[in-house]
Amino acid sequence: MDSAPELLSFAVQVLEKHGAIAERHDNHVMALLPSELAQTLDLAEEVRLGEEGVPLLYGSPALDRLVEMATEEIPLVFGRIKVPYLKKAGFDQLIGQDIVFADGQVRVTGRAEARTSYMVLTCRYVALGDERKEGLVEVGVHENTGAIIEGLETLWPEFGREFFVPGKVPPHFSIHLEKAITNAMQKAQVLAEEKLTDFINSMQRRLRRDVKNTMEYYEALKNEMQASISHLNLSEAQRNERTAKIQELPREMVRKIEDLEQKYKISVRLSGSAAVRLLVDVAQVMVEIRLGKQRRTIHLVWNPVTRRLDPLVCERCHETTRRVHLREEDSQIRLLCFSCTHKR
Ligand SMILES: [Zn+2]
Repeated sequence: MDSAPELLSFAVQVLEKHGAIAERHDNHVMALLPSELAQTLDLAEEVRLGEEGVPLLYGSPALDRLVEMATEEIPLVFGRIKVPYLKKAGFDQLIGQDIVFADGQVRVTGRAEARTSYMVLTCRYVALGDERKEGLVEVGVHENTGAIIEGLETLWPEFGREFFVPGKVPPHFSIHLEKAITNAMQKAQVLAEEKLTDFINSMQRRLRRDVKNTMEYYEALKNEMQASISHLNLSEAQRNERTAKIQELPREMVRKIEDLEQKYKISVRLSGSAAVRLLVDVAQVMVEIRLGKQRRTIHLVWNPVTRRLDPLVCERCHETTRRVHLREEDSQIRLLCFSCTHKR
């Protein structure tokens, strides 16, 4: 069977992108692969793909590996949201509503317009167990702080926007994304687990049912074997042998149950599959906080996409929080989440 022309072009594209020299012919591709690439793809370093060579068809192993390689790198898009309106006043009311300070005194001291960047990360989850289940989840995150912005992922497409072509991306995007990506992946995991609740519950139900059946089976078997000992005219040796078998039953049952637990075990794999990075004009709100004798000025962000103040992140564990606890540490006010205030 011949390879479809688009598969040959696709193969050339992927191979060249990974350092191979590939030549497209009518019904096949001739390629020279760097040895690492050849190993990854399980192909010879000099290879003919397509007609009279390694099959390149839908479902063929070579094509599967090429597709896997092509989708491994996360497609990334840069853009800018066009904001129709930035809130000008009334931020005092939002404190205590969008962000709650559990202690200290808080006062809005100013407002400025600023530009910041957000990321919407799309992650793909694959749950593998006795069955397979997969899907996508989306998470919005503030790039600088790593705060999770609930609702950003569904709201941003409603706004006008402009995308930047590669090479023309303005330099305003955050360089350090570790916190943002770590937090986004953690949130994605929570969302994936929520989506998998029914799947996980159904596996657990099936496990409980099978365990119950197994226990009942062994109980019945034990009773039957015990009855046979007392009824039959058995020799001493036979009786001992059956008694030993009965004593072995609980261990056998435990092994069976362990096998079942293995069978219904679920592993969830999560990977980033696409990211949109967005510049957004925001209202920056300067806030003075006081705790005892200490003072500190912080900036809050009024986000025109969610039309709320963005949450903050705990300065100890980086968890996103809308309820901030103030603690004095080394003559400085620290912003913490609830659980960190209760840890020493
Ligand atoms: Zn914390």
